[in-house]
Amino acid sequence: MEKLWAPWRFPWIMESKNGVKECFICDAFNAPEKDDRKNLILVRGSNSLIIMNRFPYSNGHLMICPIRHISDLRAMEPDEWKEIGLLTQKSIEALERTITPHGFNLGWNIGQISGAGLEQHIHQHIVPRWSGDTNFMPVVGKAKVISQDLWESYDQLKEIIIDL
Ligand SMILES: [Zn+2]
Repeated sequence: MEKLWAPWRFPWIMESKNGVKECFICDAFNAPEKDDRKNLILVRGSNSLIIMNRFPYSNGHLMICPIRHISDLRAMEPDEWKEIGLLTQKSIEALERTITPHGFNLGWNIGQISGAGLEQHIHQHIVPRWSGDTNFMPVVGKAKVISQDLWESYDQLKEIIIDL
């Protein structure tokens, strides 16, 4: 395995001018222009959201998270768990219907040692898998060649997921 080379982390570890860590999830959610396509937000729920990973491990790599900027899984409320569960089901259905993966890896990276690129705002990864791709990609995994354009995937998923 290659040495830790994680370009997808770079935008997540920038610090803003006032010293507060930037959060790409909150930034996308609260973006003044409300351009969800540009910001790759697929679904805005009542307390949680689905956002596409701008630096995906594979095509259709999604993240589902509470809207609240919280770092501790234990701080999640039952309603948040419930909606995140529902959004997880919808995500899998939409991915099945669009890019037809053979399987999925789902998981939360808790703490930096686990590979969490943004540990201040917890999020669940959904990583589509195909037979013949590399073995389970822990977050320290190799950089992948992504064959499908991000926004092409976004448009396909958006069209499906909106009706689920
Ligand atoms: Zn946040």
